[in-house]
Amino acid sequence: MLNYDRLVFEQSVKGRKGYSLPKNPYPDKYQISNLGDKLRTKVVPLPELSELDVVRHYTLLSQKNFGVETGFYPLGSCTMKYNPKIDEELASLPGFTRIHPLQYPASVQGTLKIYRHLSSMLAEITGMDGFTLNPFAGAHGELTGLMIMKQYHLDRHDFKRTKVIVPDAAHGTNPASSAVAGMDIIEIPSTGQGLVDLEQLKAVLSDEVAGMMLTNPNTLGIFDCNICEISRLVHEAGGLMYYDGANLNALLGQARPGDMGFDIVHVNLHKTFSTPHGGGGPGSGPVGVKKLLSRLLPGPIVKETDGFCYVETTSDSIGRISGFFGNTLVWIRAYAYILSLGRENIKRVGELATINANYVKECLKDDYLLPIEGPCMHECVFDGLIDKSTGVTTLDIAKRLLDYGYHAPTIYFPLLFHQSIMIEPTETESKQTIDDFISVMKTVAKEAKEHPEIVKEAPHSTIVSRIDEVFAAKKMILTYQDYLEELTQKGEVKS
Ligand SMILES: *Cc1c(COP(=O)(O)O)cnc(C)c1O
Repeated sequence: MLNYDRLVFEQSVKGRKGYSLPKNPYPDKYQISNLGDKLRTKVVPLPELSELDVVRHYTLLSQKNFGVETGFYPLGSCTMKYNPKIDEELASLPGFTRIHPLQYPASVQGTLKIYRHLSSMLAEITGMDGFTLNPFAGAHGELTGLMIMKQYHLDRHDFKRTKVIVPDAAHGTNPASSAVAGMDIIEIPSTGQGLVDLEQLKAVLSDEVAGMMLTNPNTLGIFDCNICEISRLVHEAGGLMYYDGANLNALLGQARPGDMGFDIVHVNLHKTFSTPHGGGGPGSGPVGVKKLLSRLLPGPIVKETDGFCYVETTSDSIGRISGFFGNTLVWIRAYAYILSLGRENIKRVGELATINANYVKECLKDDYLLPIEGPCMHECVFDGLIDKSTGVTTLDIAKRLLDYGYHAPTIYFPLLFHQSIMIEPTETESKQTIDDFISVMKTVAKEAKEHPEIVKEAPHSTIVSRIDEVFAAKKMILTYQDYLEELTQKGEVKS
């Protein structure tokens, strides 16, 4: 039987080629043999394959992966929703893909205009006054926003303000970005509901606080109704409010950070606004600010007068945080996405994302432990199974879901619970898909009771079963050579 599943080096057949080169048309003096000792003399041990072998190899590899286009992917916080293909098509137009950041503005008016339009649409969506599209990712946007926060205080000669308040429920990038921006972190514990504890907050406010970073809805998917009071307290103490809007699904068209008292926000175009992500692909983390901070936005800044767009870097700005304008093609996708939804439908995103998560939460709370009762926003968090007697863990459940063709939800985050399972169905899934997922989750809960070993040993149907994650991280096998060495060490010889 033909086996195209073999490693590419093992498919190699001596002398087989996947290319044909034309005869060298240049005179003798340009022949490569004239390179003398610069010419490589040792043959590089590359696999020898035909074009068809290579195509089959990569197609099979792609099928071994799980993606939002192969199945339901309810990864909380990271929003694996479907990204419409029309956005890809528009971002692939040669007018966008073949331009250079150093071109004269007159020759790239369309792209610069999109920068302006998208900035003002994001400002309207978030309730801000000005935006930069330059940061490359969410964490990069956080750093940019914190640099603006820091500069704001420095400009006022308020040199003592070096501390940022971050609740313990925050995404890990929040304290990390604060540290990179040279700020000290004050972590405050959340209430049992995962909300900001007002008394804890009051206790840490002082004239050393530069500001507070918050996600609302928080990483538990809960909307903090005290938000206006929180903003008031921080402002009263002289600090600024930073909104982590990496995942804006629940708020789209429904509520705006700017109206909750936030002064700075970042959004992830690669989560909420239609760019596929995962695997570290290109992202974009635009930052929006209120009027009093607009002059600090990083350059280059795109301006417009009488319909003509031009580029400027102001002397007040914090400087550059990227070489040019950021990931242009990512903001083209976001622009297409927002325009294709329109003002009315963008509200439906927030509605559907929220309804879907609440539906999942209500349907599963008889089998899975719901630590926080009441309505959630775009995602819900369980603390493992209700019945803990079987010893089946969240990791086991995540692995068992793979056997049923579902990607696992986010697990063991947020850190507030020991067995967190964080489910974000997103607005792009049908009721049928969500119902199927719910029934599989219930089946797994039943299996955990009746045949726990099936769940504990899962997955059974994937190409690799459980991996030793610590070993894999410590000893990475990234090349065929590494692989052969590993086999030799284990005393296994490859024929
Ligand atoms: C994803 C995420 C971030 C970080 O975004 P990156 O683009 O991965 O740097 C920050 N905060 C929250 C809440 C997130 O979900």
